[in-house]
Amino acid sequence: MHEFAITSSLISQVIREAEKNGARRIRRITLLIGEHSSVVPECVRFYFNRLKDHPLLKSAELEFRPVPLRLRCPKCGQEFGSIEEMCSCNAGAEITGGDELTVESMEIE
Ligand SMILES: [Zn+2]
Repeated sequence: MHEFAITSSLISQVIREAEKNGARRIRRITLLIGEHSSVVPECVRFYFNRLKDHPLLKSAELEFRPVPLRLRCPKCGQEFGSIEEMCSCNAGAEITGGDELTVESMEIE
């Protein structure tokens, strides 16, 4: 259900942006989806297909671009791709990437 709220807010963001640019239709929407985000791409696609009755979205395609997890050590500032690779500072980890779901780009006509 969580994906439904996210998907409809992304879709309205895309529609607003397309209308602002005077688009007649949206051809493609590319979403950045973090490997660490709790969002399931199949669910987003499922809800997207149910929200597609908007005239601008009728022939729109949805694409996902995965964003790998990025962790940073708050002590030494180094970045890592996984907990296993991390330095020996033992200062915990900040997530600096890989937990997002955002619109990267869209093609309009
Ligand atoms: Zn460190």
